[in-house]
Amino acid sequence: MLNRQGRESAPTGTSRPAAAGMPGHRGLQLEEPLSFEQGQAGRSGVDLPPLPVGEDCLGGLARQGEIGLPGLSEPQTVRHFVRLSRQNYAIDMGAYPLGSCTMKHNPRLNEKLARLPGFADLHPLQPLSTVQGALELIDRLAHWLKILTNMPAVAMSPAAGAHGELCGLMTIRAALAAAGDARQRVLVPESAHGTNPATAAICGYQVESIPAGPDGRIELAALTARLGPDVAALMLTNPNTCGLFENEILAVAEAVHAAGAYFYCDGANFNAIVGRVRPGDLGIDAMHINLHKTFSTPHGGGGPGAGPVVLSERLAPFAPLPYVVHGPQGFRLVEQAGEPGHAPIGRMKSFHGQMGMFVRALAYMMSHGADGLAQAAGDAVLGANYLLARLSDVMSASFPGPCMHEALFDDRFLKDTGVTTLDFAKALIDAGYHPMTMYFPLVVHGALLFEPTESESRESLDELIATLRRLAAAAQAGAVEDFRAAPRYAPRRRLDETMAARKPVLRWRPAQGGTAK
Ligand SMILES: *Cc1c(COP(=O)(O)O)cnc(C)c1O
Repeated sequence: MLNRQGRESAPTGTSRPAAAGMPGHRGLQLEEPLSFEQGQAGRSGVDLPPLPVGEDCLGGLARQGEIGLPGLSEPQTVRHFVRLSRQNYAIDMGAYPLGSCTMKHNPRLNEKLARLPGFADLHPLQPLSTVQGALELIDRLAHWLKILTNMPAVAMSPAAGAHGELCGLMTIRAALAAAGDARQRVLVPESAHGTNPATAAICGYQVESIPAGPDGRIELAALTARLGPDVAALMLTNPNTCGLFENEILAVAEAVHAAGAYFYCDGANFNAIVGRVRPGDLGIDAMHINLHKTFSTPHGGGGPGAGPVVLSERLAPFAPLPYVVHGPQGFRLVEQAGEPGHAPIGRMKSFHGQMGMFVRALAYMMSHGADGLAQAAGDAVLGANYLLARLSDVMSASFPGPCMHEALFDDRFLKDTGVTTLDFAKALIDAGYHPMTMYFPLVVHGALLFEPTESESRESLDELIATLRRLAAAAQAGAVEDFRAAPRYAPRRRLDETMAARKPVLRWRPAQGGTAK
């Protein structure tokens, strides 16, 4: 039958046990080969009539060889994707407590609005007169982002958080260059997300790490020791990735500015403070907002996202093209440099940004209102504190509470059990949960970082807590072999994580004789 052998002879531990003659299905979860392994020449989901003209009429555009797509019927295609989707985990299935990623419920209203043909079917090159409503929506969203952050400007086009960081640092570099000030270093606390040092390095800066204090926050003395005339910016996350609010942030801003540097804030954790704290009041010069972490908008699996960057007065002139302005003729997109007082860094991407995400984010804001946003932030923080408080006697909390949006544990509670953070994460899969973030942030040993978000009910949190308590007790009772064998019930057992990172197989190739490799 279909080329099953390729899968069954995969390295031990990566495939499901297959009974004799069975393709690896188990219960109602079905094994699924690649579409290319299933495809057969001449099979198709549609029947097209024969070409009514000779190939010579195509002006030399006739295809020279096979197109190289798998031949599948429509039901085969539908089953293929449905089967694959059932091998995945999703926020729509259950709690997804991945820390730092803010995996939260996406209200269906937002999905409905994003699919309205007037938004979903737009083409970015349509005449402006036909997209006035879409431009107004971008303008309105920009307005509310500025209000919620108390910042005077926002660049809407960056496509994700990391892209927003790049945009923010490029505007800082442009502002420094315009002042004839070629600073070389960017300071990044140890607890930062990996994208922060990566962004600074891509911008050509030397990255210097600042150690975290014993309470998981930045220490003013450690910062000022490194500030100097060569420092372009500090990149700080607030609330930080230990789930803690940076209490000294006003003094930090003052010190950074006194040294002539800019204050970049990683705003990925804005969900914890939206409607309650305005970054503009904290002396921040630039901050990206992951619309996909704060204002619903589905993400996971690498996208889609949107990372608008709010900018201070000093950085606003360097904001990228294009941007929406409102004039007597209605809304228009400024596509070229040359507007008075504006020296744009260029473009971050081909067009104006992620329209579908803009629609969802504005719908989220408008349906919640200011009170609702503040309530969501409060509930997210409450949920994380509930988790921290109910687990602190059996798991080792890295810092005393209260925390903000995420509860951070380290692996001291697993000491001498033989069970690692990785084993614990895999056991959580067998218990029906997407694991927490693990081994990040780097400032604590064997980190386990949980962010329940405001989506989870009390019952759902209690269930997660009961599962974690049961696993912690099992580890301490010596069930190390059970942990090492996990996950037992997932579509795949343990993967070789080192090989996956060092030698990723990114391309499928048909093997000689038709067997997939
Ligand atoms: C998610 C995240 C980022 C990167 O955002 P992307 O949208 O994934 O590019 C940066 N910093 C922190 C703290 C994050 O959690």
